[in-house]
Amino acid sequence: MHTPRGVLKNVFGYDSFRRGQEEIINEMLSGRDVLGVMPTGAGKSVCYQIPAILSGGVSIVISPLISLMKDQVDALRSSGVNAAAINSAMDWNDVRSVLRSARAGKTPLLYIAPERLDGEGFREFLSSLDVSLVVIDEAHCVSHWGHDFRPSYLAIAPAIDSLPKRPAVAAFTATATEEVKTDIIKQLAMNSPFVLTTGFDRENLFFQVEHPGEKMSFLLAYAKNFPDMPGIVYCSTRKNTESVCQKLVASGVKAVRYHAGLNDVDRLTNQEDFIYDRATVMVATNAFGMGIDKSNVRYVIHYNMPGSIDSYYQEAGRAGRDGSPADCILLYGGEDKATITYLISQGEDKNTKETAFRKLRQMIGYCHTSGCLRRHILNYFGEGSSRGECGNCGNCRSVAERHDITIEAQKIMSCVYRAEEKTGGKKYGSQIIADILRGHCSNASRREQVMRFGLDTISTWGIMKDTAARDITYIIDFLVAEGYLMFNEFGALSFTERSLPFLKSRTRLLMRRHESVQKSKSERVPDKTAEKRGFFSGGLIEIFRKARAIGKRAVFSEELFETLRKMRRELAASEGVPPYVVFSDKTLQAMCEALPSDEDEMLSISGVGRVKFEKYGHKFMDAIREWREKQNPADEA
Ligand code: ADP
Ligand code: ZN
Repeated sequence: MHTPRGVLKNVFGYDSFRRGQEEIINEMLSGRDVLGVMPTGAGKSVCYQIPAILSGGVSIVISPLISLMKDQVDALRSSGVNAAAINSAMDWNDVRSVLRSARAGKTPLLYIAPERLDGEGFREFLSSLDVSLVVIDEAHCVSHWGHDFRPSYLAIAPAIDSLPKRPAVAAFTATATEEVKTDIIKQLAMNSPFVLTTGFDRENLFFQVEHPGEKMSFLLAYAKNFPDMPGIVYCSTRKNTESVCQKLVASGVKAVRYHAGLNDVDRLTNQEDFIYDRATVMVATNAFGMGIDKSNVRYVIHYNMPGSIDSYYQEAGRAGRDGSPADCILLYGGEDKATITYLISQGEDKNTKETAFRKLRQMIGYCHTSGCLRRHILNYFGEGSSRGECGNCGNCRSVAERHDITIEAQKIMSCVYRAEEKTGGKKYGSQIIADILRGHCSNASRREQVMRFGLDTISTWGIMKDTAARDITYIIDFLVAEGYLMFNEFGALSFTERSLPFLKSRTRLLMRRHESVQKSKSERVPDKTAEKRGFFSGGLIEIFRKARAIGKRAVFSEELFETLRKMRRELAASEGVPPYVVFSDKTLQAMCEALPSDEDEMLSISGVGRVKFEKYGHKFMDAIREWREKQNPADEA
């Protein structure tokens, strides 16, 4: 029990550490400062909770959001650890009883908001405690370079300094840029810390980009296919959020919504309905998610494309925090690109605008690449250049559905070349290139440019008459994503080092099929492949298909899973905690597979620790036994 591994097993019910956890824990226990940079869901909490439990005294955990603190405290208490939090929503009596118990050494973990440290009274109180560790969660909040800078985080270093004995300091974040890391170390005055950055990959997430003709039909089909799976649907605007939510509800999906236009009460009610599994789908703007710890989100669908891969990965990463498979699907439609471009162009600052455009182009690249999506994301974060294909993303799985666009690519690229040549090095954006290729300008200012520069006299004028403009710009985006063309900072196209070799070698170029691109009007035929494969090649569907295929002796009975989920929901409601605090989806699935029937078997399930076994073990074993008897009345003996 008194080793990190012992605590991991007994308190948290896990058999082995995840990557990085054990190293961090050992460094912390040796008294060294630590900076842990790990992606969402990697298991940062365990990294400081185990040293806190083992080191005696009080560990102070500074956390920016009440909801985060509450979740952590609930989870620890349900595992038998007497954690507590002090926040602004508590009345004085409660605060006093927490303080008393901390002073008596009965609270190994005390969660506080950074604002607490502003009060002299509280700092004095801290000095009277035996503080063994100070942990800073979401540590990027201390950095001006981070995306959610919080001035009150600056009070942390002086507060640590004023303690009678300096405790070890540990900081955790999911933001990995060098700038932010260096800044955290500086702002928190960390003492030559042990820095551990684990990879950014989230193996359990399945990535996919869909280009559906009708986003809503896709979404409806998907949500109905997984009626009980919690999912988040991100929309770019309040208006979209409202209408998408309404349509889901109208077709019987238990959806709720969240955006900044709702009043506080509605927002909170909806959020809680989702967290407590009373509602299945949360339709939200990006206002939703920060500080939401719900670990059993099984899919995140982006109804609109975000403005950068940073935002995308952060939002999509809210799926599957429990480590079970989850889908991250982005529904691409060209209109998002136009909306975001417009919003960025409204900005004032030139540098900010350029950065935003660059990030947008990288996001569009993700939507159009036919390579591995996971590798694309990891490359963006400076990781995984040596990686092969992942085999677990939409592109890796749909190699067969690509179609040949070699001719189109040649036409487009020579048009870019000829236009530039005609006007002495002047470069053009994708819309005007599409106009030239179609031999028709759909817009007066572009027509004026074409006339002024004589672009209607070059040899590529009108050579793609029968292709829709959006299909041409779509292929252009693909060519940019694959590095055959590039955009400069003003969105004008030019050649890259891959362009000429491609034109000379005439290699075949394959692009993933999407519903709008057709070779020409005359060739327009219904896309049978899309029909045949249904909408999804996703991760979840795969798992359920497998379970069903194995038939009666399924490795995994959905019916039993539902029964256990229902029981979990009831237990959680009676204790006033979210269901995933009782057991994670992954733990319930493990029970469905192993069908434990005695104490040892139950304790060997990942996620079942001592305390939880005592609280819930028999209830779940009973339910499993009943289900077995119903399946197989004959083996009762
Ligand atoms: P983070 O704070 O890094 O986003 P959490 O600390 O919330 O992630 O952990 C995510 C999930 O992984 C939680 O459900 C947690 O209980 C679980 N977890 C953490 N460590 C392990 C482990 N060693 N084995 C199995 N599950 C773990
Ligand atoms: Zn892949």
